Amino acid sequence: MDEIALIAEKIARGGRNIVFTGAGISTESGIPDYRSKGGIWDQFRPVYFDDFMRSRDSRIEYWRQKTGMYHDLVRAKPNAAHMAIHRLHEMGLLEAVITQNIDGLHQMSGLPEETVVELHGNTRRIRCMTCGEISSEEAAQERITAGDPAPECHCGGCLKPDTISFGQAMPAAEVERAVRLSETCDVFLVVGSTLLVHPAAGMPRFAKRNGAFLAIVNLSETPMDDQADVRIEGKAGEVLPKIVEALDRG
Ligand code: NAD
Repeated sequence: MDEIALIAEKIARGGRNIVFTGAGISTESGIPDYRSKGGIWDQFRPVYFDDFMRSRDSRIEYWRQKTGMYHDLVRAKPNAAHMAIHRLHEMGLLEAVITQNIDGLHQMSGLPEETVVELHGNTRRIRCMTCGEISSEEAAQERITAGDPAPECHCGGCLKPDTISFGQAMPAAEVERAVRLSETCDVFLVVGSTLLVHPAAGMPRFAKRNGAFLAIVNLSETPMDDQADVRIEGKAGEVLPKIVEALDRG
């Protein structure tokens, strides 16, 4: 049996199937990943959370970086890989997606909000770091375009995209839910992640330790490759639709 057919066969058993996604699933939607050549870390130096909170200059730099990424984000649409995962949901074969991504493309593919566990937040949402009010990225970007390089809330607090910066605490409820889902699943399918960023990268270990079938679809190596039951080196937008086709064929 080939690798695609084997993944499809495991998913078809109707157990708890988890898909875990990283930046690599969205590169085919035009959003660069972090670590590939030409990725975000080739262009920007990250702004740490404490610096963001302490210094207006850091906030200006942070928003300058976010504005660069925003232009990719507004153009981005879910690609064939996101749509294949949505199809798994329609077939009743998806327990949840755990994602490191902040682009909201899983929800845009049609997945219900409660099916997506966002470990690193969502950049389409802006949070006031003082009063907690949520607003939209469009509204913040309009203010930046109008000449305010680091917009503030009406309460005077700093506005920040609702994502987890370096040095910022992870969202406890989402991490707990992701651990629980990983520990209790039957199939854990990794798509487009280097599996280097913790605690997200620990999830496949929890799954494997509890006997799940671990499959990895990625363009480069990961530290979990030797523990995977199946590893496919290929583009998410090509491989995932093939898994769905194999399921459709029965
Ligand atoms: P990463 O950048 O570290 O790694 C991406 C991986 O995906 C690489 O191994 C690469 O080989 C692979 N890849 C690239 N294109 C692919 C494709 N078409 N098909 C299959 N694999 C492909 O990303 P990461 O491990 O997710 O982790 C880093 C962090 O980056 C996360 O914290 C996330 O919050 C953040 N991030 C998110 C986005 C987004 O939301 N789209 C974009 C960039 C970074």
